[in-house]
Amino acid sequence: MKLKDQVAIVTGGASGIGAASARLFAAEGAKVALVDLDGAGLGQVAADIEAANESRGGGQALTITADVSSDQQARAGVEQVMEKWGRIDVLLTAAGASTGGTVDTIEEAAWDRTFAINVKGTYLWIHYAIAPMIAARSGAIVTIGSQLAQSSPGKNAAYIASKGAIASFTKTMAVDHAAQGIRVNALMPGVIDTPMPARSLLRYADPEAMRTFWKHRHPMGRIGQPEEVAKAALFLACEDSSFITGTLLFVDGGWTAQ
Ligand code: NAP
Repeated sequence: MKLKDQVAIVTGGASGIGAASARLFAAEGAKVALVDLDGAGLGQVAADIEAANESRGGGQALTITADVSSDQQARAGVEQVMEKWGRIDVLLTAAGASTGGTVDTIEEAAWDRTFAINVKGTYLWIHYAIAPMIAARSGAIVTIGSQLAQSSPGKNAAYIASKGAIASFTKTMAVDHAAQGIRVNALMPGVIDTPMPARSLLRYADPEAMRTFWKHRHPMGRIGQPEEVAKAALFLACEDSSFITGTLLFVDGGWTAQ
């Protein structure tokens, strides 16, 4: 098992990429703290983890219903994990939101909300979770950017700017904390079959045409699955990537290759 007896925090753990990664981390032996606004979704993922791992002596999952953009809730959430398990080995920051729009149409509230969830939420959870990692001189942090930060068909300006911020934030954290034994890497997914792009499609006049465009924009000719991103998250979270830090790992079916 690649994460045996390790403690992982996964924000956005109720859905999509976060949920798939949390399930895989647990199957690989981790105790997983799931963080999300969606308490019911968290309960379902935690129940799945505990049921799936029963044969291995019971998977352990802790649910924390929280808004990742709240300083107080991030601090309390990390404290809760430390009280329960006494260590944090892995942090995956998967909570995110996509708003759509171009610079002339995006209103201040939508811009602020996008950056609050995608950038400040990433900063806050790393800010608090990295302290025990620094003390232990060990840890793996995995952020989530997007292929769109490198190659965008447009019309999602705040989201794409926030994902560009994640890419540069990830690199500079990797430099700052390498000597403390902490690796920081980003996943840059292509379009992945989760509720987020399903919601984004509703912004287009012809959602089916846009979905077909997305499919064929990937040279592999399809949309990705959250489990395919979860495997890359596991790679960056575990010792298999022991000499990798500050990397942007594109899990995008070739989107950014063309
Ligand atoms: P998802 O299925 O919508 O999952 C995101 C989760 O984050 C949801 O459960 C959502 O809860 C939660 N969340 C949103 N705002 C939150 C907040 N303020 N506090 C706590 N939790 C919050 O989306 P996903 O596709 O798995 O996305 C995961 C990450 O991958 C995101 O950072 C996304 O930008 C990135 N990504 C996704 C794709 C893609 O095509 N799917 C591509 C590139 C990058 P609610 O549902 O209650 O809002």
